[in-house]
Amino acid sequence: MDYIKERTQIVEYGKKLIENHLTTGTGGNLSIYIPKQKKILISPSGIDYYQTKLEDVCVMDLDGHVLEGNRKPSSEYALHTIFYKNNPNVRAVVHAHADYATACACLNIDIPPLHYIMADIGDKIRCTNYKIYGSQEIADEAYRVMGPNKGILLANHGLLAIGKDIDDAMGIARNIEMMCKLYIRASSIGNPVILSDEQMAAVKKKFETYGQPKVK
Ligand code: 13P
Ligand code: ZN
Repeated sequence: MDYIKERTQIVEYGKKLIENHLTTGTGGNLSIYIPKQKKILISPSGIDYYQTKLEDVCVMDLDGHVLEGNRKPSSEYALHTIFYKNNPNVRAVVHAHADYATACACLNIDIPPLHYIMADIGDKIRCTNYKIYGSQEIADEAYRVMGPNKGILLANHGLLAIGKDIDDAMGIARNIEMMCKLYIRASSIGNPVILSDEQMAAVKKKFETYGQPKVK
């Protein structure tokens, strides 16, 4: 069996979706892109994250053909491949039905930058127009609304995060949920004060040197 590292990551990060309270049941899906071979590894459709085995992970090309594996791939493969086809910086996609993000998605609202961590995701978290799950239409709409950002809400559905690797995409998914939780809680007792474009630009700049210096 090929791609053991990537298969293991799909299985392990699938369990993290549940552990991090980002999804329930078999909701959500995740994928990793291998640019050299233009192949993706994606979670199988409708299999419990704790029951998913390495061999259940599907290998696909960008046109939606299953190349390896006996399982039916995630119904959202088009939602994943559209980013790999069009944005060379995207190497992983995470989709989830997290409680707070989904609540906001059901209101079809954009989440403004009420907390500086928004700079990790983009200028704000935009919400798509509603499109049915598992369709080319939801993929096209998600790609359109994402723009240069790393996370969006899918109307009446959930969240979508992209990243340079699976850990990055999972971190974005966690931060989308955090922003939506803060927005709901802060709005319940008042009007959140929204950070200005200048304040957000300053945070973005400061993030470049956040944490430990990079070892060369
Ligand atoms: P899959 O189990 O087919 O990945 O579908 C779950 C989902 O979240 C659909 O949007
Ligand atoms: Zn979904």
